[in-house]
Amino acid sequence: MAEASAQESEALRDRVRGGDRRALAQLITRIESTRSEEAAFGHEVLEALVPDTGKAIRVGITGPPGVGKSSFIERLGLSLVERGHRVAVLAVDPSSPVSGGSILGDKTRMDELAREERAFVRPSPSSGSLGGVAHRTREAMLVCEAAGYDVVLIETVGIGQSEVAVASMVDFFLVLLLPAGGDELQGIKKGVMELADALVVNKADGDTAPAAERTRVEYEGALGLIRAASPSWQPLALSASALEGTGVPEVWEAVLDHRSKLTETGELASRRRQQNRAWLWTLVDETLQRSFREHPGVAAEIAGLEAAVETQQTTPAAAARALLATFQSR
Ligand code: GDP
Repeated sequence: MAEASAQESEALRDRVRGGDRRALAQLITRIESTRSEEAAFGHEVLEALVPDTGKAIRVGITGPPGVGKSSFIERLGLSLVERGHRVAVLAVDPSSPVSGGSILGDKTRMDELAREERAFVRPSPSSGSLGGVAHRTREAMLVCEAAGYDVVLIETVGIGQSEVAVASMVDFFLVLLLPAGGDELQGIKKGVMELADALVVNKADGDTAPAAERTRVEYEGALGLIRAASPSWQPLALSASALEGTGVPEVWEAVLDHRSKLTETGELASRRRQQNRAWLWTLVDETLQRSFREHPGVAAEIAGLEAAVETQQTTPAAAARALLATFQSR
């Protein structure tokens, strides 16, 4: 690397370490950049910051649009800042890669929290596949940790695959739900329920308070029926009002309780190790897939071999072998 660039990289690293929010935002922008030189620079700085990462409490928050995610995160974030924490809020927005529009990013979000000196609110990267967006959010999380943020909240809309991506990068996964109108449970997917360390029925205030409590009890029952993912933690069903602030401290207490239990059993450390290992392999798989499909020889053969497989002129196994042979013969 050129000397000027090495100096720039060190300067940026030091500013991030010093907690400089502008430097933090700049580094994340470079990591997210679609220009490969910029991104390479960003990754190099990130690599140098790795020893400073890993110290935050990482919490994922999901829920359907309108459930009150940003209200809840703002309320929680402000109370944590008040207690002396430094809070970073990141987002994985599954809608942006698909439509170019955005469910999470369009409104002005968490204004009050964003104005706090000890908070950092970053919208979702605006382009790329969900996988790519999730990786960059993960990298942004590491950068925030290196900058001294000791709580990282990662938000995602409860549609599609983004919950799995977020759950695989956090210590505690929170699912926000609405009070049910009738006595039917909402269509929360079983898979998402299994990821949750806590379900929180939001909007437990005013006229909806009784419905919220009924819903909470129903979820509590439903949680009892699924096998807990962790041997040291039984997922909770709580209720809260992001509007009034009630129940929010209890949610944080659950996060801390979970943390101390999983720290004691060593599960937190092993979960982090497992997440890092899984992330490594996801990156390898994706990179291989991409270079495979972009290989000129492979690209030229794909359509023909797919057609041959569809019409049973050849077997999928033989077609796969042919493509791989082309890939390896470069
Ligand atoms: P998001 O789409 O999940 O981020 O939801 P928002 O935080 O933007 O909230 C959606 C709407 O619900 C807004 O009009 C909020 O004011 C309202 N809201 C959020 N939390 C509560 C709550 O606890 N109680 C009530 N009554 N309304 C809430």
